[in-house]
Amino acid sequence: MTFKDLHLNAKILKAVAEQNYTTPTPIQEATIPLVLDGIDVIGCAQTGTGKTAAFALPILDRIFSQLDASNKRDKKIKALVVSPTRELAIQIEENFKKYSTYTNLRTTSVYGGMAMEPQIDQLTKGVDVLIATPGRLLDLHKRDILNLDYIQILVLDEADMMLDMGFIDDVKKIARLCPPQKQTLLFSATMPPKIESLANELLTEPEKVSVSVLSSAAKTISQELYIVPKPQKIELCLHLLRNNLSGNMIIFRRTKFGVDKLEETLLKNNYKVDTIHGDKTQVARTKALNKFKNNDVNILIATDVAARGIDIPNLDIVINFDLPNIPEAYVHRIGRTGRAGKEGRSLSFCSADEKTYIKDIQQLLGKLIPVEENHPYPLDPKAKPEVHKKQGSKHKKGRKSVASKAKKKRWY
Ligand code: AMP
Repeated sequence: MTFKDLHLNAKILKAVAEQNYTTPTPIQEATIPLVLDGIDVIGCAQTGTGKTAAFALPILDRIFSQLDASNKRDKKIKALVVSPTRELAIQIEENFKKYSTYTNLRTTSVYGGMAMEPQIDQLTKGVDVLIATPGRLLDLHKRDILNLDYIQILVLDEADMMLDMGFIDDVKKIARLCPPQKQTLLFSATMPPKIESLANELLTEPEKVSVSVLSSAAKTISQELYIVPKPQKIELCLHLLRNNLSGNMIIFRRTKFGVDKLEETLLKNNYKVDTIHGDKTQVARTKALNKFKNNDVNILIATDVAARGIDIPNLDIVINFDLPNIPEAYVHRIGRTGRAGKEGRSLSFCSADEKTYIKDIQQLLGKLIPVEENHPYPLDPKAKPEVHKKQGSKHKKGRKSVASKAKKKRWY
């Protein structure tokens, strides 16, 4: 199948060709005809599958065909995309702008953490497609700055993340502020029961479209597991950077503190690094991301929330410096590499206190991640598990049985 077979407007096809997209991805092939037909869609797909174009292209097509016929501009917002994070909102806006280069459609985004005035200016001039984070959108609506009465298509992107971030009530409120007869598209990387019931509440006779998250991640991404004592993760990271790794990479840490600490060490060792996490201002986060995209730095250290959904082309490596405590986050993280069929590499550092995390991740993947034993900081295989030393035969016996059990069974 080609994009032409999807019957999109020639002006949109021209912009798509300029992006060097030759064939639609599976999510695009399945979603575009449904959106063009005005059908509600539940899309189970993560970032990296081409899901943004899957909704952006048919939305632009539908709005453009209306403008084309009447050939007059108005200030009505016709499509609204709700995104959990500012970075994702900016990225979606960039995509809409690229795909609408040859149309006269206007897209803008509004999100928190930035001054309201420039966003208000844009809205006052008039936009056809609005991308928004929930809080800023409701704030602007409350101030009577934007009117959602003419929304024809509502997209809820990364719905599971909106749930994680506590936005579900805001999302429901936004859906109610739009006209009842609109078309609604809901995209989510995972489909927990709460997302299913949200979809049931907000969508009408939806069609379900799903691309296999795990198999798409597993096919093109190599996965390596490094078992390492926690205090030596930094040394292992430096060792690998010196000897084994080159290219663009993201290093994930669980906490903002961890991100800053690793940045300090890597800067001291003359690596070109920047960071994104929730404590940074929006301007600083965008600047870091642009530095990375422009190859001014080749290492980005990030927390999950700050990095989720951000598309970074040409990402070679993902390092899980800390393992995520939610197994799905592992799939999201490694999904940042190996995009659109490219080869990718992921390395995960696992210390003894993270053994339950790796167990859950491997269970979700349905396979074991190959352990890379050839590195200078392995956990000492002869090391006895820590036991509470006490006098008496009972404890001695307990100690022996724990130690021998550990010898027989590896925990990873
Ligand atoms: P997304 O899942 O929307 O974040 O898209 C992931 C990446 O795939 C982006 O860099 C897109 O530009 C790219 N992409 C989207 N659709 C296609 C396609 N049909 N062919 C090749 N690359 C694509």
